[in-house]
Amino acid sequence: MLGKNLKPFDRIKEGITFDDVLLIPKRSSVESRKNISTKSILSRNIELNIPIVSANMDTVTESAMAIAMARLGGIGIVHRFLSIEQQVREIVRVKRSESILIEKPITISPDRSLEEAKELMAQYGIGGIVVIDENSRVVGIITTRDIKFEERDQLLVKDVMTKDVITAPEGTSIYEAKEILKANKIEKLPIVDEFGKLKGLITAKDIVKREEYPEACKDSKGRLRVGAAIGVKGDYFERAEALIQVDCDVLVIDIAHGHSDLAIKAASKIKEKFSKVEVIAGNVATPQGVKDLIDAGVDAVKVGVGSGSICITRIVTGAGVPQLTAILNCAKIAHEYNIPIIADGGIRNSGDITKALAAGASSVMIGSLLAGTDESPGITIIRPDGRYKMSRGMASLAAAIDRKIREKGLEEIDESELLEYVPEGVEAMVPYKGKTTEVIAKLVGGLRSGMSYCGASTIRELQEKAEFILISEASIRENLPHDVKLLY
Ligand code: IMP
Repeated sequence: MLGKNLKPFDRIKEGITFDDVLLIPKRSSVESRKNISTKSILSRNIELNIPIVSANMDTVTESAMAIAMARLGGIGIVHRFLSIEQQVREIVRVKRSESILIEKPITISPDRSLEEAKELMAQYGIGGIVVIDENSRVVGIITTRDIKFEERDQLLVKDVMTKDVITAPEGTSIYEAKEILKANKIEKLPIVDEFGKLKGLITAKDIVKREEYPEACKDSKGRLRVGAAIGVKGDYFERAEALIQVDCDVLVIDIAHGHSDLAIKAASKIKEKFSKVEVIAGNVATPQGVKDLIDAGVDAVKVGVGSGSICITRIVTGAGVPQLTAILNCAKIAHEYNIPIIADGGIRNSGDITKALAAGASSVMIGSLLAGTDESPGITIIRPDGRYKMSRGMASLAAAIDRKIREKGLEEIDESELLEYVPEGVEAMVPYKGKTTEVIAKLVGGLRSGMSYCGASTIRELQEKAEFILISEASIRENLPHDVKLLY
């Protein structure tokens, strides 16, 4: 039976994506790619030096990727398919990885065992722990150097630690600290008050990193920035609270259909309770979706439904919007509200990044392109035709099974529940690519050149000047190497 309120389908909207267009070259006054700024914003209050975000997927972003991304000037969003404790630990690893002054360094009492000290070092990925007495006074330091060949784990920290610790008073500048570290050939400098109580820690590693990664994306305390994904059901609020407690810089409310009452409610609840935390929500693909999330108080909106490389949402559900149209439409309204959008999914090369930014996105989120790097979670798969790493959809069957195992344990899994599960993602492999730094360098290099072709030296200028030209199937063939035999 036909419904009474059937909509007239006399006007079907049109949608295009990256391959359907090119950017028209414009006169450029840019003399060197080095003069092009890739600075942008992730959300209302978070600046980026490169507009690239690593995706909250379990084959893409945990702490190693987030650290690599933030050092390069972008940011990583740690996925949510971890227990709250595990996700918090990943965030802590990033926040502790470098800073001007570590305000709350990991400490240990002199009466604990060497085994406990080793466990703490492994857990936090650190090479030394300050030893303090019951009054928080510094009494020693225990480093990997002290314990390298010591296998008697039952020994006490006080038997193994270095006792004459060099300390510096509160207010010591980073330059003074560097001189002290250099003069004494030490790696760690505890900062103490007049009573010898521990007030912080400056490490040689942090100073070196500061100089090595001048473009790093950092918070006001000099710590790398990081984001974490949360859902909209179950423990999401508790998770948000725990993440905020460890100074996670941005929460990403991430569900497949972000234009939903659940996402809107979750966003307003979190913004109401924690007004200072940056909140991104998504994914949406329409201006109304953007507006509803902005009205809920979010600081950025993630755009992309069905565009991801491992996504089958459009096939399974019939729903979605071609990504370039989604970005163009969503950016228009987001710019009216001065809220940035993140173009999420479907980025296959640097040209796509230039197009996404030119269409109005402030940053792009990347999954599979980064899944093959050393810093993505998971092992390298060696096959006769090369090395690979996994990239799987977070709504794939394999991810769903892993999730259930984690939540309930293998024995408790109800098979029928899994049989009913309708995946919207696939399990896949991507070629192994080496270091994230190298992949990002190529992407940013291509983006800079793309901006130069558009006569733009900033992303804002790119958005103002960019002009797209719609191209044909034949042009797409012309875009690629043609009529030659490739050597590799
Ligand atoms: P990629 O950069 O093209 O690989 O796209 C990455 C994006 O795909 C992620 O940031 C998500 O928005 C999206 N995504 C991840 N897993 C799934 C899934 O299982 N189904 C649909 N989309 C997914």
